Amino acid sequence: MNRKERAEKVLAGLRAVIKERTTELKHVNPYELLVATILSAQCTDERINKVSPALFLAFPTVQHMAAAAVDEIFPFIRSVSYPNNKSRHLAKMSREIVSDHAGHVPETVAGLESLTGVGHKTAQVVAGVAFGVPTLAVDTHVYRVAHRIGLVHNAKTVVQVERQLKKLLPLQDWTDMHHVLILHGRYRCTARRPGCELCPIVRECQYYERLQQLPVSRTGLDPRKGRYYCATRNHYFEKGDLISDRSGTEQVSCPRCGSMNVFETRSGKTTKKVKDYRI
Ligand code: SF4
Repeated sequence: MNRKERAEKVLAGLRAVIKERTTELKHVNPYELLVATILSAQCTDERINKVSPALFLAFPTVQHMAAAAVDEIFPFIRSVSYPNNKSRHLAKMSREIVSDHAGHVPETVAGLESLTGVGHKTAQVVAGVAFGVPTLAVDTHVYRVAHRIGLVHNAKTVVQVERQLKKLLPLQDWTDMHHVLILHGRYRCTARRPGCELCPIVRECQYYERLQQLPVSRTGLDPRKGRYYCATRNHYFEKGDLISDRSGTEQVSCPRCGSMNVFETRSGKTTKKVKDYRI
C-alpha cells in the first residue's frame, strides 16, 4: 500500500467512527474561535472551554476586547498556560482587527497570520473551521499520529509533516483529515498508550505492524550477570549502544558482536522499541 492509498483508507476509516469532525473549542463566531484558538496553544481545549465563557461574557465582541487593557483580560485567563503573553496578544490582536480589518476577523490564512499572536497553526484552524478554507494544521496529535501510521516519511518538522500530508489528499479532504487525526490522537492513539486493540485503522498502521514484529520475551535470564543478554552470542553485558534502524525502531546492540538480538534481563523483553513520535 503506498502512502496515498494509506491516507485515503485512514481518512475513510476514521470518518466512519468520528462523526463530529470539528474543533472541540466552544465558540459561536469567528472572533470567539480565534480567541479560543490563541489561548489553546500549549494548553488543553478542556481548560480553554472552562475559562472562555466568562471571558466572552466580559468581552462579547472584538470591539470590547480592543477597548480593554491587558490587566483587565489577564484575570480571566490566569489559569491557562502563558497568561501574561496571551493577554498581551489578545489585546493587541483585537486592536489590529478593529483598526486594520474594520472589526472583522480576516478570512484567509495570510490575513490571520498578520495578526499579533496568531501563528500558522492557529491561522489554519480558524480559516478552516470558521471560513471553510481548506487547511491542514499540524499540532502535536497530528504530528504523532501521522508518523505512527506511516503517512509521512522522514518529516522532522511540523511544516514538513503538513506539506507531505497535503500532497496525499485532495484539497477538499484536508480539513477533515486535520480533525480526524487530532481526535484520533486525543482519544485513541494517545501519546502514552495508543489503544491499538480498539483502533479502526489497525490494518493501515505501520506502528502496529512493527509492534507485531517484535521478538517474544525471553524467560530464565539472570539480571545478576548483566543488564542485557545477547541471544546471538549467548552472553550478558552491561552497556551497549542504542541504535535506530530505518523505520525508527530503537534497539541496544551487543558491544561484542553488534547483534541486535538483545533482551533486558530483568523483564526478559526485547530492547527493540518502536519510536512513538511524541513531540
Ligand atoms: S493501531 Fe495503534 S498506533 Fe496505530 S493508529 Fe491505531 S491506535 Fe495508533
